[in-house]
Amino acid sequence: MATDHYQLNDYLSQLLDIYPIEQLYDRLENRRHPAKARLPLSPRCKPALVERRWQAVGGDAKVREQLLDTQTRADMEAYRANIENFIGTVKVPVGIAGPLRVNGLFAQGDYFLPLATTEAALVASYNRGAQLITEAGGCAAMLLDEGVSRAPGFAFANLREAGEFAAWAVSSLNELRQVGESTTRHGKLKNLRLTVEGNHVYLHFEFATGDAAGQNMVTIATEAICAHILAHAPVKPQYHFIEANLSGDKKASAQSFLGVRGRKATAEIHLPRELVEKRLHTTPESMVDYWRMSALGGVMSGTIGVHGHYANGLAALYIACGQDAACVAESAVGVTRFELTDDGLYAAVTLPNLIVGSVGGGTGLPSQAACLSILGLKGPGKARALAEVAAGLTLGGELSIIGALCAGHFSRAHKVLARDRKDS
Ligand code: NAP
Repeated sequence: MATDHYQLNDYLSQLLDIYPIEQLYDRLENRRHPAKARLPLSPRCKPALVERRWQAVGGDAKVREQLLDTQTRADMEAYRANIENFIGTVKVPVGIAGPLRVNGLFAQGDYFLPLATTEAALVASYNRGAQLITEAGGCAAMLLDEGVSRAPGFAFANLREAGEFAAWAVSSLNELRQVGESTTRHGKLKNLRLTVEGNHVYLHFEFATGDAAGQNMVTIATEAICAHILAHAPVKPQYHFIEANLSGDKKASAQSFLGVRGRKATAEIHLPRELVEKRLHTTPESMVDYWRMSALGGVMSGTIGVHGHYANGLAALYIACGQDAACVAESAVGVTRFELTDDGLYAAVTLPNLIVGSVGGGTGLPSQAACLSILGLKGPGKARALAEVAAGLTLGGELSIIGALCAGHFSRAHKVLARDRKDS
């Protein structure tokens, strides 16, 4: 988090051009006068409560109408379980990309992909990648593993107690499994891994979560397990936390990259040379040269995994389809590989942390459920296919962006599709 001294000097001069030094100090002072208005925290979406919140927030009728339009008013109750202090909805434009042909273990067929974004050129790029894949016969896709974890941490007086607790936890696995699984119909405890660090013990519980993304499910199950541990462990921890930050929840981590968090999926395509030349306006050789250089660039910059821009497609898909958008922090890690073949290009993506579900979370909200319906992946039995489609989407995105970089079109696409349209 270091900053070069000359940049700091420059920044300080800029600040002093705006404010005299006394004002700068004054701006950082603590201010204890009462807040404008205090909003009582409430999950309820009743019109009268929404009105009270708007009165507290202020904002003219036009501002209010942007968030609380007729449709949003009509659907208000539907948001009850997904938001607190509801005042309306933000409209994120949705574009459609595809069709993307996926020949997967679970996903089969041509998928139109709803992508919600405010970033121009994104849908165009994924559209191009998806259509290229489809023209080549579709990508093969494989769900490889599943599991969502919670990792409570327990602190003991000394190593001896920590060791005794760890041994008890291992021998009590069946008992802990029963307790955790009693809280859910679909959650199944798959594995327990232990990390002992000094007198601290982390229990890393990994659950299969059916068709749900599963973070709430595993939290509820782990809480029950923790209560059981406190009541029955032969040695009591001095303190414990239900999540001790070892699970990788909502951040890219080396640990979840090396295993699975959510769903792990891979997708591949063999592209004939003519298609690369015709649709991407470059050659397989150039694509592989780019991939090799960018892989080293990624290694030298310390990314977890090596890829181009998984976050673009995943964020747009997650927002459109009611997935937890913050999970893009962990989902957008993985490895892209390009290789020359006798007649063209081999490309593959592998993503070990796709946190996707076809039930639960935001998947039942009005427009999010509609987007899942466009995909044909709404409801029970569809989450594995959704993970394979997400992998196929990122494969299309990698082909398209690397094609644009090789053909020298990367900047042009953004200029034509973003800047020039704003000016016209
Ligand atoms: P959820 O909506 O809390 O739970 C899924 C629900 O669907 C459960 O009640 C489950 O019942 C039910 N269900 C019905 N059919 C199912 C099927 N075929 N497969 C699986 N479940 C089925 O969602 P979640 O996926 O557990 O959690 C996702 C949400 O958690 C997201 O909104 C995310 O933002 C949030 N989140 C929570 C935490 C946390 O620590 N609490 C952290 C990050 C994110 P059963 O349980 O009886 O099977």
